Amino acid sequence: AKSHGRGNFQFYSPAMNVATHERLLMENRIWVALGQQQFELYLQPQVSLDNGRVVGAEALLRWDHPELGLTGPERIIPVAEESGLILALGDWVLARAVALMAEWKRDGFAGLRMAVNLSARQCHGRELLPRLDRLLADAGVDPSLLELEITESAAMHDPEHTRHLLRALRERGINVAIDDFGTGYSSLSYLKLFAIDRIKIDGSFVTDIETDPNDAAIVTATIGMAHAMGLTVLAEGVETAAQRNFLRLHVCDEAQGYLFARPMPPAQFREFMMRAKG
Ligand code: C2E
Ligand code: CA
Ligand code: CA
Ligand code: CA
Repeated sequence: AKSHGRGNFQFYSPAMNVATHERLLMENRIWVALGQQQFELYLQPQVSLDNGRVVGAEALLRWDHPELGLTGPERIIPVAEESGLILALGDWVLARAVALMAEWKRDGFAGLRMAVNLSARQCHGRELLPRLDRLLADAGVDPSLLELEITESAAMHDPEHTRHLLRALRERGINVAIDDFGTGYSSLSYLKLFAIDRIKIDGSFVTDIETDPNDAAIVTATIGMAHAMGLTVLAEGVETAAQRNFLRLHVCDEAQGYLFARPMPPAQFREFMMRAKG
């Protein structure tokens, strides 16, 4: 029994009933979790390769469930996407991210950028812009310190809509990064169509960067192309000093990965930043 499109099942099987039950259970848990504040955004530093300074952090969803324990987004996001819960969850993510930005401001972390992942459904709803305006204004946070990460496939789902959205974000000073660059099936044409600020090179191209000439070629060509277009480049999944050195040599602007730090709870990130300030 395969589904033909979302929620359009052809026939039932016991296996699918289990899967459906499991999904409904998960949906219900997500609702409860939203009400009970079980979600948190972990923060992973983004580092300038010029000087090693932390220039921002990516907010990554975590769920501390009373029975399931600490759960990453791979169990949450797909269920939330399927059910439409992603809108409520995505809204919580935005609100929490902006609240953390207000805390950073109070802590004196001037100029620190907050990068937030947007789901495809969030990009295509009408709520996003007014919601962002309200959140940022209420918190007194500078929009140019917010960056929204969208994937190629989310952007290309409805290119005309995306073009308008990204224009509107740019008017507000909000940054946009293309996430998981190089992993989608879309063409490069959107790079000239969309008003973006940054390309995030997917970690899968970074892993073997020193040994696989194809990965090295893709990464160096992406950096060259991005710079020629006036975009900055961040490499994801940097785990070794050798990978960092390669990227620095090829003038990649920024990097993120376990080499620098793992995603951590906000309080720990605060300490991390205090130590970095000296
Ligand atoms: P992503 O946006 O590509 O996020 C980067 C993922 O790589 C994160 O996984 C991060 O923990 C992991 N990572 C960071 N450094 C390294 C490294 O050096 N090596 C390796 N192997 N991995 C590294 P995570 O937190 O499990 O998130 C997975 C995906 O879930 C994210 O991929 C993103 O697509 C999605 N996601 C996370 N938070 C949110 C959210 O708030 N909203 C939405 N819509 N999606 C989210
Ligand atoms: Ca991301
Ligand atoms: Ca990514
Ligand atoms: Ca990814």
